[in-house]
Amino acid sequence: MLTRRNLLTGLGLGVLVAGFDPVGRVWAAEGPFDRVPQLDGELVFDHSGVSTDNGQYVIREPLAVLRPKSVRDIEKMIRFCRKHRIKVATRGRGHSTHGQGLVAGLLIDSRWLATIHSIDRDRADVDAGATWLDLTRAGYRHRLAPPVLTGYIGLSIGGVLSMGGVSSTNRVGLAVDHVKELEVVTGEGRAVRCSRTRNRALFDAVLAGVGQFGVITRAIVDMVPALPMVRSYVLRYADLPTFFKDLRTLLTRNEIEDVFAQWLGGVPHIFAATAFEPSSPPNDSHLLRELSGSVAQAASLDFLTYVERVDTQVDDLRKSISWDELVKPWFDVWLPGSTMERYVSEVVPSLTARDVGAGGWVLLFPIQRSKLTRPMMRVPDDDWVFLFDILTAAEKPGPDPAFAKEMLARNNRLFDRARQLGGVRYPIGSMDFGARDWAAHYGERWPEVQRAKRAYDPDRILTPGPGIF
Ligand SMILES: Cc1cc2nc3c(=O)[nH]c(=O)nc-3n(C[C@H](O)[C@H](O)[C@H](O)COP(=O)(O)OP(=O)(O)OC[C@H]3O[C@@H](n4cnc5c(N)ncnc54)[C@H](O)[C@@H]3O)c2cc1C
Repeated sequence: MLTRRNLLTGLGLGVLVAGFDPVGRVWAAEGPFDRVPQLDGELVFDHSGVSTDNGQYVIREPLAVLRPKSVRDIEKMIRFCRKHRIKVATRGRGHSTHGQGLVAGLLIDSRWLATIHSIDRDRADVDAGATWLDLTRAGYRHRLAPPVLTGYIGLSIGGVLSMGGVSSTNRVGLAVDHVKELEVVTGEGRAVRCSRTRNRALFDAVLAGVGQFGVITRAIVDMVPALPMVRSYVLRYADLPTFFKDLRTLLTRNEIEDVFAQWLGGVPHIFAATAFEPSSPPNDSHLLRELSGSVAQAASLDFLTYVERVDTQVDDLRKSISWDELVKPWFDVWLPGSTMERYVSEVVPSLTARDVGAGGWVLLFPIQRSKLTRPMMRVPDDDWVFLFDILTAAEKPGPDPAFAKEMLARNNRLFDRARQLGGVRYPIGSMDFGARDWAAHYGERWPEVQRAKRAYDPDRILTPGPGIF
């Protein structure tokens, strides 16, 4: 009998897929099958590097991988998969941690469509498989940059726009709030352009839509002028109440645009940064006046060094501790401003070194809620919302199912407590989330989410990983 296993053994992983056997339900290189459409790119069995994600504990081998060379390829293959009820997922850079982008069906590897088409004064037209790092470097040649950049920017345009895109810049919204137009291939295999004024329902569904309503293939995103230098401060705190007080002071003053917190060795630190022209450097003593933290660092960095700092750190960890191969069951939750201090004061002191790991971080990002515009982005209802992350990494590289299970149980427990205090999941990380959890997650918007699914992915083939449908 023709199975995927004996096909792979007999033919090797590099072989091209020629068709799908609807009886045996396997992709095939030869034999009786429904022939796949003529493609500009390739459809292959080779799933090396794409059957797990940054979490390193969910493994789902795709039955075939599309390396598209055109949007037409994606349209054709989605139509083909729809006909045969084959599930489809798109992979950005695979940095979510709980199998959100994995599929035992057709995987679209978006890295193959990664052109930056143009960069203008206020916008960039870019393929969804390009990274924010690519775009930032290209934009900066014109002294432009995206207004919102995640900490690590080696993430795909499409992956971040499907999830939200949270940055340490507090009052500009999220990456999804800075999109002018999208090209999307729906679950019916149709490429559609959408924006706030054109096919708006699709635009509203897809941004922060967790891949449920279409494959983002291209985006026109905002660009803004980038100042060449950044003044960066790190303040250290001996206790949480003083830390919270200074954090509130900085947010209320609104003199420094980038403020976030990180625990280093369990000690809270505020990181604050402001961009400047070399001719008018900021006044440190004015910006830090009356704050109680001790200044651990005050440094001036050029723009690219600053925005690539986490990428540089992750690259170092890749070399020093094989970071990519560490099991990483990350915990990410939005907290309302009204209960953030209570939650963080309960949770952070309870964390052990094992909860974080040498390749992990504990972070807190304050975001002004009124700047958020996208209906699919679920956050608590408060003037300020705080993304709290425990980015756990195992001590040693390689599989560690017991560690993954233990940390998943911890995440579920921490999320239950967060939910009691008005917390909402940011779905990039790891926790058990069933159908009822998703319905509660979307709340009053759940009927609209279901309607959008029926309209744009009627056979529910897209992005099964998160388990929403
Ligand atoms: C070191 C590090 C730091 C990070 N810091 C931040 C941070 O500061 N702020 C933040 O918000 N996030 C952060 N993240 C998380 C990251 O933003 C999300 O995990 C993001 O989704 C990853 O992008 P990706 O390209 O790897 O997407 P993937 O993980 O590949 O995909 C994410 C989801 O989107 C779907 N998808 C991917 N591409 C498309 C597409 N073109 N069309 C439709 N659906 C698609 C996938 O199927 C999957 O369900 C960080 C991650 C890392 C590794």
